[in-house]
Amino acid sequence: KSGEFVDALKEELAKNELTEKVNIVKTGCFGLCAQGPIVIIYPEAVFYHQVQPKHAKKIVSDHLVKGKLVEKLLYHDNETKEIINKLMDTPFYHKQKRVALRNCGRINPEKIEEYIAFDGYQALAKVVNDYSRDDVLSTLETSGLRGRGGAGFPTFMKWSFAKASQSDQKYVICNADEGDPGAFMDRSVLEGDPHAVIEAMAIAGYTIGANQGYIYVRAEYPIAVNRLRIAIKQAREEGVLGDHIFGSDFSFDLDLRLGAGAFVCGEETALLESIEGHRGEPRPRPPFPAVKGLFGKPTIVNNVETLANIPQIILKGPEWFASFGTEKSKGTKVFALGGKIQNTGLVEIPMGTTLREIVEDIGGGIPNGKKFKAAQTGGPSGGCIPPEHYDVPIDYENLKKIGSMMGSGGLIVMDEDNCMVDIAKFFLEFTVEESCGKCVPCRVGTKRLLELLDKITMGKATLDDLDKMEELCHHIQENSLCGLGQTAPNPVLSTLRYFREEYEAHVLERR
Ligand code: SF4
Repeated sequence: KSGEFVDALKEELAKNELTEKVNIVKTGCFGLCAQGPIVIIYPEAVFYHQVQPKHAKKIVSDHLVKGKLVEKLLYHDNETKEIINKLMDTPFYHKQKRVALRNCGRINPEKIEEYIAFDGYQALAKVVNDYSRDDVLSTLETSGLRGRGGAGFPTFMKWSFAKASQSDQKYVICNADEGDPGAFMDRSVLEGDPHAVIEAMAIAGYTIGANQGYIYVRAEYPIAVNRLRIAIKQAREEGVLGDHIFGSDFSFDLDLRLGAGAFVCGEETALLESIEGHRGEPRPRPPFPAVKGLFGKPTIVNNVETLANIPQIILKGPEWFASFGTEKSKGTKVFALGGKIQNTGLVEIPMGTTLREIVEDIGGGIPNGKKFKAAQTGGPSGGCIPPEHYDVPIDYENLKKIGSMMGSGGLIVMDEDNCMVDIAKFFLEFTVEESCGKCVPCRVGTKRLLELLDKITMGKATLDDLDKMEELCHHIQENSLCGLGQTAPNPVLSTLRYFREEYEAHVLERR
């Protein structure tokens, strides 16, 4: 759709002899998916949303030729909509803080000059010229940055372990195998700001002593893959990848590896197996990848969002990053906001923002006047947050305390019409399908759990089955080999904890 609008816009610009005067830049995502496609016109920074090819004529003739803002556009349903907004004046952005997403929607991701114009590669230059490897680690430690891929492990610690491991070869890996249903934050960063990830990986290489990196990205993200290819080529040409970076003796290069769609390959050890050319199955840990990772060499695996924060931490200082967030969860977190919500899209909030603020102030509330019932965070392995925790500040600790998890950042809102047993079943079906089958508790346990859920929804269960289900959940959690199995029962456990009456209603009403 955006491409069709661009074609129409080019045509109108040509008709008005404005082709040479107006520069069209295809950017990454602005975050406000519910209103897309969006076109922003500078220098006014006015945006028109849900644009269609037929709108190009009016936008060019009124805005660009006469300098008059277009107040209304006609849509297919013959309805006119008020469409003028100053981008950052829209309530959707008021409570957001864009750090990882800072360049998404702002620069042309296919031009390294634009990234450089917004301070790109300055953090790498600063590190290579002025920082010792320990300086980088202490900067990350002070910033409080923790892994955004789900586990929340302190980034400086992971890097320290890899730095301390002695080896002739080390690796830096970016985990861009984003597989959670409804999550697209990694995709958005890669499509909108690929150089931020490349720069951070080079900083990681410098810090741990690695000269080779890999970005493991889903093949289902063709735009991200294409923009990464372009970005890597440009980075090599500009000398920010390759030998003697910024005239130093530090060398670092990158390659892409494409994932073939197995959810389990987002688990870091399965990802390593996949890059090595084996079937993507998790390895037992220890040894951890920082000690024995890719091809048996010390390796750090960081998620896209984690990496995208790092150049800003170096440039603006760790205290700046640590100045927002909560005591133990610093900085921001990107969430893919979906489900029963007005403003579906990608939001980046300071840690500690409440769920109510996300749903009501940023998300614009629930459509059709329906009531909030729950929000699922953490994707298929996360949990449901009920209304009684609507005002809990969101951070790693609080989400864990209330039976959910940060995960990679999926946030699905449910209203009063959603059946929570169906929700648990939906997520469990996903994990059953994606279990790699290597260990019995996950391979067999999740199937048995799904059978029990089926029994409940078909009205064939007894109340004893609820207890059996809970026991089985704990068994799977405690005995599965990797995070996929260990967290698979979360949706069932959290809905049992907060919405047990719905399970009981299924059992009792259908007797
Ligand atoms: Fe595979 Fe599941 Fe075992 Fe992980 S927990 S190794 S996904 S079978």
